[in-house]
Amino acid sequence: MPAPLTRQRPRTCVACRTEAPKRALIRVVRTPDGSAVLDVTGRLPGRGAYLCLNVECLHKARRTGALSRALKTSLTDACWEELERCIEHCAKEYGPEERTRELRSLLGLSRRGRLLFIGMDAIRAEAGRGKPLLLLTARDCSEAVGKFAEGLASEGHQHMELPLDIEALSAALGAGSVQAAALAARSGLADKLRILLAE
Ligand SMILES: [Zn+2]
Repeated sequence: MPAPLTRQRPRTCVACRTEAPKRALIRVVRTPDGSAVLDVTGRLPGRGAYLCLNVECLHKARRTGALSRALKTSLTDACWEELERCIEHCAKEYGPEERTRELRSLLGLSRRGRLLFIGMDAIRAEAGRGKPLLLLTARDCSEAVGKFAEGLASEGHQHMELPLDIEALSAALGAGSVQAAALAARSGLADKLRILLAE
């Protein structure tokens, strides 16, 4: 019998306990001198903790001591202020407009890399192969496509609505009148899309 898959613990904001990928979380990492910095690349070594990308959660984490506990260090006022500046800066860089732009470019790349299935027939055929799909639909898709998406979701596929209408989705994909597209749900690409589509 195969060993059960070890499930990775979801990353959770230390202040409000929201899990990624429902929210964009940012990693805060303890530095060797006991201070803390934002880890924008997610690759800095050291003890880390996650926070939502908003100052409210930073303030809450400071008030409750949640961040200090998670990092096992106490932070100076200057360090808190610096964290707040960095989070504000990052949140601005990662606002709704930037997300939409990134989303369009990611969809275009996926299409060119032949990772996307477009249209109900192609998606239905792919869904029949047994691997879970992430189904994306345009904001103004037809009722028929909406029902199709509901049907797939009830079969265990994931469905997310795009913040794009048919025209914008079609333009991003360089294809005519696209209402729905799908890709493998278990892929790095799907992870990225989920993060971009969260809230
Ligand atoms: Zn939070």
